[in-house]
Amino acid sequence: MSPPEPVLLRRIERERAARIAAERLLEEKSLDLYEINKGLRAWTTMLEDIVKERTAELTKALEETREANSQIEHQALHDPLTGLPNRRYLRQVLQDISKSEDDGRRPGIAIFHIDLDSFKQINDTRGHAAGDFVLAHAASILQSLVRADDFVARIGGDEFVIVARTDGNMRALTLLADRITAELARPVLYKRNYCRFGASVGIAYSRSKISDPSKLLVNADIALYRAKHAGRGRHAFFSSALQKEIIENQTMAEDILSGFDQNEFFPIYQPQFDATTYDIVGVETMVRWNHRDKGVMHPAQFLRIAEDIKVIDRIDALVLERALGDLISFHNSGVVIPRLSVNISLRRLQDPNLAKSLRGLKLPKGLLAFELVESIFLDDSGADSSLTRTLKRLNRLGIEIEIDDFGTGHASIVGLLRVHPTRLKIDQELIKPINKSRKQRRLVQSIIEMGKALGIGIVAEGVETMEHATILRDLGCDYLQGYALAVPMTAPRLFHFIKTGAWRDAEAAPCSVPMPGAEDLVSPKFA
Ligand code: C2E
Ligand code: CA
Ligand code: CA
Repeated sequence: MSPPEPVLLRRIERERAARIAAERLLEEKSLDLYEINKGLRAWTTMLEDIVKERTAELTKALEETREANSQIEHQALHDPLTGLPNRRYLRQVLQDISKSEDDGRRPGIAIFHIDLDSFKQINDTRGHAAGDFVLAHAASILQSLVRADDFVARIGGDEFVIVARTDGNMRALTLLADRITAELARPVLYKRNYCRFGASVGIAYSRSKISDPSKLLVNADIALYRAKHAGRGRHAFFSSALQKEIIENQTMAEDILSGFDQNEFFPIYQPQFDATTYDIVGVETMVRWNHRDKGVMHPAQFLRIAEDIKVIDRIDALVLERALGDLISFHNSGVVIPRLSVNISLRRLQDPNLAKSLRGLKLPKGLLAFELVESIFLDDSGADSSLTRTLKRLNRLGIEIEIDDFGTGHASIVGLLRVHPTRLKIDQELIKPINKSRKQRRLVQSIIEMGKALGIGIVAEGVETMEHATILRDLGCDYLQGYALAVPMTAPRLFHFIKTGAWRDAEAAPCSVPMPGAEDLVSPKFA
């Protein structure tokens, strides 16, 4: 074997050196890589920490937002004072019911619309804090009376709504309504004073599943209106007859308002007589309404609605104005009417401009008398003293006060006498039986004697026969009014009646006296 060639040796040497260099380089680079790797790992950990921290922060923020949102939602759906669901929530619940599946179990729903009675007085006389206390109290009572799955909401002011599942058992619904009115009629103690109020309840229900439960809410409201009008502290169920009646009332309310514009209201007059001489001592005015479709209507057909829509004072004012106009034109034609009695509502008496407008008329003393029904004095509250003040003011203007329908309103006699009436009008219900019952005669006699003792004149109304007229005269009654002597009549008929002295010739049958042109306006009895 020949020795390696130097060229080859050099080559080997070079390659070795190169390998060593490469290995060293590799070693160096590995070290670098290790360092880089280490650094990267530290970075990763740091980044991971940051991400974790941020995630935690975000989660917390999200939770806070969620809580705030649900708080806002709760506030939007609840009443802050009582904590009960509000009207919006109720709307949602009704929508949910309309969408829900019928599970076959108690598929119907009942809606109770509850309105507190006399709540305004508590607010006005005891202050808002007491009012708030009463509302919170009422809320907790209502919640305590319903089942766990029933829904109670306060939908505004002093109004609450209960939505309850029902199988249509009316007795169960009545029982709940009775418990509500009974529990809410109990006075509550607030700051050592009792707050007295009550509640009226309107109920509408459907035995089976109903597609639009909000209709029930409207119907419950209609029933509530009825419960309030029936005298408060009670409940009423919705019925289609009730709905019809309410719609008719609404139509009539609109008709009354347009009746003012069309001048459809007018006074008629019923003469009043001296019980001994049969001289005419005055006339009482009574309103009539010449309805464009229904013809002439009596007060019983529309006054309650006029009262509801708060225009009865307008009717009273209008009647007085027209009556005074008639009186003046009678006077100018030689027929003098000694006294005009007009019926006056509490609302008109409470009109702050009443005395001023009457003063402007400069009426002779004793020409005008206001007839106030006894029931006006029943409200023996604080309002009573302002009423007494108004009556004193009227008295100073020479206007006389008569207590109408005496003996029916259950007002205290002491209370009545406080207003110093000029006359008492004994109600026709007390007069009617005097020709048949000695007891009734004694009763009327004692009223007359009381009047005499106190210097108060006595008028008997509803004197339907001459027998009544004679008995009343013998009992000492001062004045008579009734069909036996004259029916209510229009101004032209009254003029003719007085001018001809018709009743004197006609005696027991005055209504047979022919009178011009108002056949449609006589009392139904003689129509
Ligand atoms: P009231 O003041 O007691 O009037 C007497 C009512 O008895 C009148 O009915 C009259 O037509 C009727 N009447 C008169 N004589 C007899 C009789 O012999 N027998 C019977 N059975 N009835 C008789 P009207 O006109 O229907 O009035 C009813 C009530 O409406 C009045 O009762 C009065 O409370 C009220 N009213 C009438 N006009 C007005 C008014 O202009 N303003 C106010 N606020 N109320 C009025
Ligand atoms: Ca009257
Ligand atoms: Ca009367």
